[in-house]
Amino acid sequence: MMNNVKSYATFRKDRFEILNHYVMVKCACCGYAMHFNHCANRKGVVYHRFIDYGKFTPNGCRPPPIQLKPRQVEVAVLKEMQKRIEQLKIAKREDSKPDTETESIKTEIIRIDGEIQKLMEKLADADSVLFDYIQKRVSALHEQKSELDKKMQTMCRKRKAIDTTPLEEPMKQWDKLTVQEKHDVAAAMIDVVLISDETGIEVKFSI
Ligand SMILES: [Zn+2]
Repeated sequence: MMNNVKSYATFRKDRFEILNHYVMVKCACCGYAMHFNHCANRKGVVYHRFIDYGKFTPNGCRPPPIQLKPRQVEVAVLKEMQKRIEQLKIAKREDSKPDTETESIKTEIIRIDGEIQKLMEKLADADSVLFDYIQKRVSALHEQKSELDKKMQTMCRKRKAIDTTPLEEPMKQWDKLTVQEKHDVAAAMIDVVLISDETGIEVKFSI
C-alpha cells in the first residue's frame, strides 16, 4: 500500500508540471471546468482522466465523456507555450526596429494640424459660403485626426503589453525548473485551456 502511494506521488510530481489548479482547463463545449481525476489500480498504476463538470449541470454537456487524457493535454500545452514565447520574441524584435507606421501617423497628424491652422486664418475674411466650407472642412479634419490619435494609442498599448523577458530564460531551461517554477511560468502565460474531443486542445494565452 505504501508503495502505491509513493508511486502515485512520484508519478504526479514527474508528469504533471503545467496542469494544476493555477491553470484552468475547461470544456470547449459547455465552458465548465474539467476536473482532474486520478485513480490507481491494485498494482498501483495510476490513471488520469478529465471529468467534465458540465455533465452534472441541469442542461448537461452533450458529448460523450472526454477521451483526451491529461498527459496528452500537458504535452500539447507545453509545445504551445514554447511556440507562444517564440512568437512574442519575434514580435519584440520587430518592435525594436524603427517603427515606420507610428512615424507616418505622426507626420499625418502634423499635416492635418497645419491644414486646420491655415483654414482658421482664412476665416476672418471669409464670406458665408467660404465660412461654411471652412467649417465643414475643419470638422472633417478634426475627425480624421482623432481617428489617427486612437490608432496610435492602440499601437502604443500593444507595444507595452508584450514583455517576455522574465519568461524567456525559464522557458529556455524548462527541464531544469522545479515543478513549482513550471507552475508559475504556466500561470503567468496561460489564461485558460479549452479542450474537447471534437475541437482538440486550444490554449488561450494571457500574454
Ligand atoms: Zn462540457
